[in-house]
Amino acid sequence: MSKISVGILGATGSVGQKFIELLQNHPDFEITALAASSRSAGKTYQDAVNWFMATPIPEHVRNMKVSTCEPNLDCKIVFSGLDASVAGEIETAFAKAGYIVVSNSRNHRFDADVPLIVPEINPEQLSLTKKQAYGKGCIITNPNCSTIGLVMALKPLLDNFGLESVNVVTLQALSGAGYPGISSLDIIDNVLPYIKNEEEKMETEPYKILGTKDFKISATCNRVAVIDGHTECVAVKLKNKARKEDIIKAWQEFRGKPQELNLPTAPLKPIHYFSEDNFPQPKLHRNLDKGMAVSIGRLRPCPILDYKFTILSHNTIRGAAGGAILNAELFINKIS
Ligand code: NAP
Repeated sequence: MSKISVGILGATGSVGQKFIELLQNHPDFEITALAASSRSAGKTYQDAVNWFMATPIPEHVRNMKVSTCEPNLDCKIVFSGLDASVAGEIETAFAKAGYIVVSNSRNHRFDADVPLIVPEINPEQLSLTKKQAYGKGCIITNPNCSTIGLVMALKPLLDNFGLESVNVVTLQALSGAGYPGISSLDIIDNVLPYIKNEEEKMETEPYKILGTKDFKISATCNRVAVIDGHTECVAVKLKNKARKEDIIKAWQEFRGKPQELNLPTAPLKPIHYFSEDNFPQPKLHRNLDKGMAVSIGRLRPCPILDYKFTILSHNTIRGAAGGAILNAELFINKIS
């Protein structure tokens, strides 16, 4: 079977580069188009990009011409890693022109007819695309990079014990701020206690993904000098009593549609629980299971709420490009 042609909008950015790295040798998708701003358009990809992935630029992409983000690209699906200041209108234009738009940007996440998907949690929300007025095109979104680790940890708790309240404090990696991102003088020897719009996203997106507003979330977001991998310190109050071993079992047994369908980008186990006192750590665990697994550790009683624990997930893989590719794999599986 021939592969499905895909384009990348925002191909030169932090997320765009990760798309290119993850899509090389993909069994179902083949990159046939790259697009970015007018600063990059007209150049070959290698001239336009400041490549900072650990692997070299894939050979077939190196000399591909970068286009502007007009809906005339030679592809069926577009993955969007566009800056949020422009993503909304560009993604709408592509959907109207019949493209399947799989986006990382925040702009359409709360449109009533746009699915906000974590495939292990709410694959059924994909059916919202049928309500969209884009003809053959559609828009599918994935959540903010910190939301994704949080909801993966919360879903088994919600299903097994019920949730009353969640307090989360993040330690977020630099690649989450895009490229070139934060100046070195601002972040070395420092922690930045504010990330614009981040707390609002963490306090709203879980409700759309988990399908309930029946619990409270309070989020505090910090930027730290880690390159990749968001850490989150979470405390939860549960509706029903739970033993520590029951919670760990619920996390360890958690599986979803991507595992059932054996999708190419799916982690074998979506959640890995570590019993070591000093795990998870970004440097050691962010690439676990292709960078698609969420690591959890340090589950212990909380004197204020019921339990507290630490989460780690890769922000540009599970939290962005990898999550979007998994969404597209789920979508083509559902419609084929
Ligand atoms: P980034 O590194 O700043 O990249 C932004 C991309 O958008 C670049 O390719 C840039 O092209 C393009 N762009 C900027 N202005 C444009 C315009 N006027 N027209 C067309 N293209 C334009 O940002 P990023 O970190 O990759 O994030 C991309 C999106 O994903 C954002 O919406 C972000 O919120 C979201 N996201 C990021 C992460 C993460 O961990 N980084 C995680 C989840 C979601 P040029 O190079 O030509 O300027």
